[in-house]
Amino acid sequence: MLAALAALTLLASQGAEEERIEAVTKAQVESLDPVAEPAPKPKRQWIRHVVTPRERLSQIAARYGVKRDDLVEWNGLANRRVRLRQGTRLRIHARQTPPPRKKITYVVEEGDTWSSIAVMHRVDYRDLLGFNWPRPRSLDPGLELTIWIDPGRPRTVNVHHGKSPPPLPEGIDGAQSRGHPARGRLRNAVRLPESDLYDCGHDRWLWGSSHTMRNLINAVAEFRYNSGFEGRLIVGSISRRRGGRFPPHRSHQSGRDVDIRLPLMPGLATRISPNADEIDWGASWELVRALVDTGEVEVIFLEGPLQRRLYQAALWEGAIAEELRTIIAWPNRQGNEKALVRHSKGHDGHIHVRFRCGPDEPRCRPRRRKTAAEMVAAAAQEESAAAALRTVP
Ligand SMILES: [Zn+2]
Repeated sequence: MLAALAALTLLASQGAEEERIEAVTKAQVESLDPVAEPAPKPKRQWIRHVVTPRERLSQIAARYGVKRDDLVEWNGLANRRVRLRQGTRLRIHARQTPPPRKKITYVVEEGDTWSSIAVMHRVDYRDLLGFNWPRPRSLDPGLELTIWIDPGRPRTVNVHHGKSPPPLPEGIDGAQSRGHPARGRLRNAVRLPESDLYDCGHDRWLWGSSHTMRNLINAVAEFRYNSGFEGRLIVGSISRRRGGRFPPHRSHQSGRDVDIRLPLMPGLATRISPNADEIDWGASWELVRALVDTGEVEVIFLEGPLQRRLYQAALWEGAIAEELRTIIAWPNRQGNEKALVRHSKGHDGHIHVRFRCGPDEPRCRPRRRKTAAEMVAAAAQEESAAAALRTVP
């Protein structure tokens, strides 16, 4: 804890980005985790699983509702990073037993691309290439491809509508955000009301501006209605009652930053640090879409490598690549500044959503005002740039 705090101070003094701070202190946030709940407990039974091509341990674990580490132990595997071979038999004390993956042959048609074929069958693009290695020179019509589809993959969104959005709760007016999220406060803060739409994290950390609350609640209500998602959704931290410093977060100071845990696949107990195969990316995408549709989201932080999964799920749920360009930074590796979902280290089990300033918040600042030290540094930099220009012949 002390070491983490020391690291925190050090990073802060170096003017590090908030994401680095959040990464360093993630372990701390986890230890403060307020939401503990009983795991769902269907009856377990021993089954045999035959590994299909390109199946990963974490995928198999998530599929049967067990932990990856348990799989390692039950099967005497060397470690959790072990590469599974096709045909390997695993013993699993499963909580759920979906039908196995199925091998099909797909005949390429005019106009198909690797990516359209992957989306069509809801398989990972890289897996599709792997199933058909070495990669054929071109996708000529009539070419036969092998695809392992997963008929057992649960569909948690877009099967039916959810409940109609309830009216906004009373008593969430009058709260104003002041300053910037990394240097700000809250006036007349309102607490996130209890609701059937979501589960609340820690009582003391759920204070925000009225504008944030309205848009957050509306977005989750729309998400539930449009996608029909019925799983758990946990709103973690927003701000403290009066805002201001909220260690270990760097921002979260002005009631506009909201941490939302990524929903997990059915049958899995909530965990702070799920692996990517445990996350319900379809539901995560629908949630992101609902947040973006409010028009009041400034940025959403999610680690870069996970954005690929979000992007893929978006395509599976019918989004088109063109619209995703303004929503998800991936696959633009340079970091797409215009996209709302951007990389920030430490944001893997949750998304960090920052809402805009409301129309009734004159003292809310979209950009952080520079500190004296930063202004001096910027001036020095300008000066040396000017000097360099003068010396150019
Ligand atoms: Zn956060």
